[in-house]
Amino acid sequence: MKTLLSSVAVVTLLLLQAPQTLAQADVTRSVTEIAPDVYRLQNNFHYSMVVITTEGAVVTDPINADAAGWIKTEVAKLTDKPITHLIYSHSHGDHASGGAVLAENATVITQANAPNLIDGVKPTLRFDDTHEFVQGDKTFELTWLGPGHGEDLIAVVVRPANVAFITDAAAPKRLPWRNMGGANIDNWIDQVRKIESLDFEIFAPAHGNVGVKADATDARIYMEQLKTSVLAGLKEGKSIDDLKKDITMSDYKDWSNYESWLPLNIEGMASFLESSGQVTAN
Ligand SMILES: [Zn+2]
Repeated sequence: MKTLLSSVAVVTLLLLQAPQTLAQADVTRSVTEIAPDVYRLQNNFHYSMVVITTEGAVVTDPINADAAGWIKTEVAKLTDKPITHLIYSHSHGDHASGGAVLAENATVITQANAPNLIDGVKPTLRFDDTHEFVQGDKTFELTWLGPGHGEDLIAVVVRPANVAFITDAAAPKRLPWRNMGGANIDNWIDQVRKIESLDFEIFAPAHGNVGVKADATDARIYMEQLKTSVLAGLKEGKSIDDLKKDITMSDYKDWSNYESWLPLNIEGMASFLESSGQVTAN
């Protein structure tokens, strides 16, 4: 009887633990120091940035509630000082959810167009075009990128490391996301131009691999070439299927998501060009 009870107990314990173990195994997480005191924290396909200053930690996007709890734990390993600032790159839910645990005693910074509450967190400092602050031995330069991908997207440049944390507008050697989500792609290209106008060396994206400033220019040229090709094809009366066959963008075949997202990029660009009146629909 005692053996039976023990077996039941063990089985119950395994059943209770199994989902949690599986859930943890599904999440890929890493912490990488990309410049002195500047860390990239990975949660699957999303990255946040944490900067350790002499007065505490400055944290960017919480990603989601689980990730934010983990980020808080990792920050405590890097400094015994508090999180002084939580900076939202923008308010899209896949980057900006679950911030409450990081916001507790922090200045919460967003661009002025962000909602009043971001997943329950109330921003305490909003800015229109730029905002700069010094925290301990680091300087943070925040710049609104204008409308395009979202209305409240900003870049965060950290000095003296000269790292730029850039979310969604561009990423080194990586195609834009799927069909670009119905955005005004001309505005989006202007956002990338704004990134190019900033002074930085290391390009720390919220998706994909770390790069350099020149990667922003390459990302903009990709979008411009895609636009030129799709526009020309539509003006010749080609169908979307023909465009997908004809437009190979082969210079970019080594970029992330080339195979899977190029057809979607073409669809998104065609849809934008038609909806914005740059070409009439077939
Ligand atoms: Zn976004």
